[in-house]
Amino acid sequence: MNKIQMVDLKGQYEKIKNEINAAIQDVIDHTAFINGPKVNEFSDNLSKYLGGIHVVPCANGTDALQIALMALGLEPGDEVILPVHTYVATAEVIALLRLEPVFVDVHPEYFTIDVNQIVNKISPKTKAIVPVHLYGQCADMEQIMDIASKYNLFVIEDTAQAIGAEYTFSNGKKAFAGTIGHIGTTSFFPSKNLGCFGDGGAMFVQDDEIAKKCMMIANHGQSVKYHHDIIGCNSRLDAIQAAILDVKLKYLDSYCKARQNAAIIYDELLKNVPGISIPKIFNKSTHVYHQYTVILGESIERSKLQAYLIEKGIPTMIYYPVPLHKQKGYQYYNKGESFTVTEMLSKTVLSLPIHTELTRNEQEYIANAIIEFIKLK
Ligand SMILES: *Cc1c(COP(=O)(O)O)cnc(C)c1O
Repeated sequence: MNKIQMVDLKGQYEKIKNEINAAIQDVIDHTAFINGPKVNEFSDNLSKYLGGIHVVPCANGTDALQIALMALGLEPGDEVILPVHTYVATAEVIALLRLEPVFVDVHPEYFTIDVNQIVNKISPKTKAIVPVHLYGQCADMEQIMDIASKYNLFVIEDTAQAIGAEYTFSNGKKAFAGTIGHIGTTSFFPSKNLGCFGDGGAMFVQDDEIAKKCMMIANHGQSVKYHHDIIGCNSRLDAIQAAILDVKLKYLDSYCKARQNAAIIYDELLKNVPGISIPKIFNKSTHVYHQYTVILGESIERSKLQAYLIEKGIPTMIYYPVPLHKQKGYQYYNKGESFTVTEMLSKTVLSLPIHTELTRNEQEYIANAIIEFIKLK
């Protein structure tokens, strides 16, 4: 058996090495490293994949969130609602733009923003909601869009962990994660479901004017060189990354499938194990399993389980061990509220290795080690 990893980027690369290498070589041969035709080609192909929405590439998923907030014309002091159980980037860009992050707890089984708690947090200063499709499954977008339209708010979907997931509306209409709100953002960080070999990101934008504005902001606020109509930043997807992504995009569906198959196997191996709650599927969304995250019961001491698994060569991760309102750097935004679900999850979640190259053998080995640990106690 190979060494077990949280994500096997090398194994995935080996299978498409010739195609990837040729694509990289082609960029080098043309020396169009920044904003070359390859970047447009990839953006067009991703747009087609997502059903025709504008795709605006940028340097990383954090920038995508920042540029999205900038493009919507929010003013310092405006409030932006987000789940408190998420990666720091979601809150970071809000704070950086001198907007006010307003935290909302998450659903105890789906890990995404608890839609029943959003309305309570809306004030006259609220301008936007940023749902996060955490671990690969969509937040309840239909309800979020209804709230947003009632209160006249923008919606930015943080799709960094869920590219390729599909949401189904109550009328049966389906839409890809990131294409429902005013802007969707994603990350092409190497370990994401569609990852490049460095940093990369993109925005998915419905409206032509907002798309144009995102494009300008990502490129120093210009649409004509050296004419800066608005204040922007320097956030570009480089052509080598675009070339790699354009190859990998063709495999995205099969990558999603491979992760889903791995999840089915874990479910089967772990569903009856005492003290382990397997991930629950939200019936309005497909799950693309950026993470396979279980909740541990009180009888299992997480750090001891992790240490036991490490001894057996099995890495695990905690996403996220410290909720945002408890982060040192974010104390200014801690209003003394408690977020009971998020606080519980921060102590009990555990993400197991999941990736496109994981084998049934490896999963049986992982599950058996977990079961052994539970029996040993
Ligand atoms: C990875 C991630 C980001 C940030 O993406 P980068 O490309 O690393 O900047 C933002 N939000 C979530 C939920 C993420 O998982």
